Amino acid sequence: MTDHAQLKQRIQECCPELLELSFGCEVYLKPYDEEGPYRVLGKIGICNRHKKTHEECYEPGNKCDVNDGYWLLGGDDESDGMWEFQVLENEIGEILGHPIELQHVLRTIKKLPDNKWRGGWGCIPDDDLAKFVLYDWDLTQDLDHQSEETKSWLEKVILGI
Ligand SMILES: [Zn+2]
Repeated sequence: MTDHAQLKQRIQECCPELLELSFGCEVYLKPYDEEGPYRVLGKIGICNRHKKTHEECYEPGNKCDVNDGYWLLGGDDESDGMWEFQVLENEIGEILGHPIELQHVLRTIKKLPDNKWRGGWGCIPDDDLAKFVLYDWDLTQDLDHQSEETKSWLEKVILGI
């Protein structure tokens, strides 16, 4: 696992909602599909009989068997084409998660052991943290799209690398 992948994993452990299959979460399907990743649009029920969700599928006495599924969005942007489709929950493979933003990074830093805050070995100087928040982090981008310097500073601080 790369340092960057480890960093993301650590932040996802501290902010578990990043891996929730809610709107905007990125996923791959099983088996690995190189058209992915796809973004989750929402949770749906998929009826075995109708292959879609109908309100009447939920009516009592109906023979429909409704399973959990998701609406997904494929494609990167409108010029390349985007498409929506539905899959059953068990067709979801790897969950890449939601984009990691500054709030997730800061919540992870605040959960680091106390010695990071009390001047112990390996502590983060306030000035370094201020510089990171005010100047280094690009607020218009998620973690994957920060500069290499910013990412390696975070690996040092959060993973101790
Ligand atoms: Zn049905």
